[in-house]
Amino acid sequence: MLPSFTYARAGSLKEAIRELASEGARIHAGGIDLLGCLRDGVFDARKVVSISKLKDLRGIRETASGGLRIGSLTTITEVAESPLVRERYAGLAQGSAEVASPQLRNQGTIGGNLCQKPRCWYYRGEFHCLRKGGTVCYAADGENQFHCIFGGDQCYIVHPSDTAPPLVALEAKLRIVGPRGSRTVAVEKFHVPPSQDVQRETVLKTGEIVTEVLLPPPPPGLRSSYRKVRARQSWDFAVAGVALAVQFSGDRVTKARVVLSGAAPIPWRARAAEEVITGKSLDSGTIAKAAEAVVQNARPLEHNGYKIPLFQGLLEEELSAIARG
Ligand SMILES: Cc1cc2nc3c(=O)[nH]c(=O)nc-3n(C[C@H](O)[C@H](O)[C@H](O)COP(=O)(O)OP(=O)(O)OC[C@H]3O[C@@H](n4cnc5c(N)ncnc54)[C@H](O)[C@@H]3O)c2cc1C
Ligand code: SF4
Repeated sequence: MLPSFTYARAGSLKEAIRELASEGARIHAGGIDLLGCLRDGVFDARKVVSISKLKDLRGIRETASGGLRIGSLTTITEVAESPLVRERYAGLAQGSAEVASPQLRNQGTIGGNLCQKPRCWYYRGEFHCLRKGGTVCYAADGENQFHCIFGGDQCYIVHPSDTAPPLVALEAKLRIVGPRGSRTVAVEKFHVPPSQDVQRETVLKTGEIVTEVLLPPPPPGLRSSYRKVRARQSWDFAVAGVALAVQFSGDRVTKARVVLSGAAPIPWRARAAEEVITGKSLDSGTIAKAAEAVVQNARPLEHNGYKIPLFQGLLEEELSAIARG
């Protein structure tokens, strides 16, 4: 059952910020994750502030510099189907198309997708675990087959969003507006690892709203992609995923960003794999070395060691595909 809370529908960004200043207030965008969390008792809310009427936060448009500005209330379907996104930032279009089901993509927003809570079954269930303010991580010695192999530190969640890894690969930024004005944060710095704070998922402070996603102009020779593996054919979160943003000069890689999903509590940059392919052409030897490097320093838990060969195979396939163009 949902707890009782007051509800406000903001008519302007200023009003939304004012409403969000009160203790226990939470943002409602598409409401998919918010209402699920309230219903399941993941967190509480004294006030729910809808930002759905804020038209300025909707839509996709080109910026003066040739980049893209995506309002945070733009639906995931709109991002997946945008000709501009598909043509210039294929990885983001593919990541968006991989989110949940068509109905959820029609309702869910890109801002909400980036700010959603993790899916650890203990956290979503009736367990007062470390992330909820308790003293125990039940996954550490429990059912951890879908948990992380990198970056686990007291808590072993995997970051749930399929849009965040391609956005990190594409060097996107977020504009954030709050009571103290506005700031811009790289998506790569937006999510908080448990080693920094085990109870926070993002750097957002009280009253702050993500207003837009900013993509830089695509550099010459850029190719990007996102592919995820799930446990079943229908909608599901990533068991493993790879976002690539690779710049080519001829067949040589001049710059590469490799970002994993289903791997760590935050979108995880596989820097060792990036180093292996930078300056090289993607022949089978280089790809095999990158597949070795992608799991360097992985620390699987008792039940998720299968992710090691999964990530290796996935990276091999994705690098081979991106090399073909
Ligand atoms: C069955 C199911 C399957 C799913 N599968 C996937 C999947 O495969 N891949 C995937 O990536 N996601 C998946 N999701 C997650 C879902 O698609 C996202 O949670 C959804 O897109 C959230 O968008 P929303 O607009 O509904 O967010 P809301 O529920 O409105 O908000 C989510 C959270 O973010 C905060 N928030 C929302 N907008 C902002 C903003 N602009 N600024 C600051 N904070 C904000 C809210 O307060 C809330 O805490 C799944 C969800 C379900 C229920
Ligand atoms: S992995 Fe994190 S969210 Fe899951 S039980 Fe452990 S502390 Fe809680």
